[in-house]
Amino acid sequence: MAPECCLRNIGFLGVQRGIAERMIPIKIRATARGAADAGKVFWLRLRRSGWVSARAYAHYVLINAWLRVRNRLARRPRVECPCCGWRGYEFRTIDCGTFTVPSAECPHCRAHERHRMLHIYLLRACPTFMRLSGAALHFAPEQQVGVLIARNPGLKCLHTDYALDMIRSHRGTAFQCDMQHLALADNAVHAIFCLHVLEHVPDDRRGIAELRRVLHPDGAAYIMVPFMMGWAKTVEFGRPDPEIYDHYRGYSPLDFEERLTPFSYERIDPKDFLDPEEIRRYRVPPSQVIFRCVK
Ligand SMILES: [Zn+2]
Repeated sequence: MAPECCLRNIGFLGVQRGIAERMIPIKIRATARGAADAGKVFWLRLRRSGWVSARAYAHYVLINAWLRVRNRLARRPRVECPCCGWRGYEFRTIDCGTFTVPSAECPHCRAHERHRMLHIYLLRACPTFMRLSGAALHFAPEQQVGVLIARNPGLKCLHTDYALDMIRSHRGTAFQCDMQHLALADNAVHAIFCLHVLEHVPDDRRGIAELRRVLHPDGAAYIMVPFMMGWAKTVEFGRPDPEIYDHYRGYSPLDFEERLTPFSYERIDPKDFLDPEEIRRYRVPPSQVIFRCVK
């Protein structure tokens, strides 16, 4: 019995060694291909957009390579994703064209700061969310927000995007629309989720007026925009800026609220319901502000 057992174990270890030996060249080839691809993108960015853009990309690639290793070795997690429960040393850095944003993306579920903020707020600090029932309109559908809306079984989610290819690839109920001219009746929806969309709309004031028109008097719209922290006022670019994901404008946190005056709105900052330790653990910076808007 004993020798047979030993032989079986040796055989098993041999198989394990064989798998490991085959995996090493595959990993080396994948890493080499990844490095070659990153090199090509770096030169492309340098040629098309200049040194600042290429430098941002190089920083993004290198810091995330380091974080991948660091997260694997982390014995005592420092950060936690409230959306999926992942814990580790640090969230991934994201590439925003001419600059990078550190501690932004969960390496497991790819939730960004805005998703983490909305997740904690809706499930912890917004009791009215679970009382909403009826149609929910979700602009530029994101899986992290879709999962969150599904927590409320009373909401029937309609996903919408201006880009037709995004709609075609979407699995749920989805339709194409222009926010400036919504093909919906007045008071038709009980919840609106509009995260990082207004900066892509040519006439955002018209879009906001449409949001108000289709929102039911008992409903709520949750709006977030990317803020250019430090900017004294909102700057209109006059066209989609390819260096910043085709944004039509950069919003200042100091004057954005004036655009929401068609609504009655409440401004929710992270510090309103998170203590300093939670803000550090979930990596939710002050720029992540939710505007809860009602009629
Ligand atoms: Zn996550």
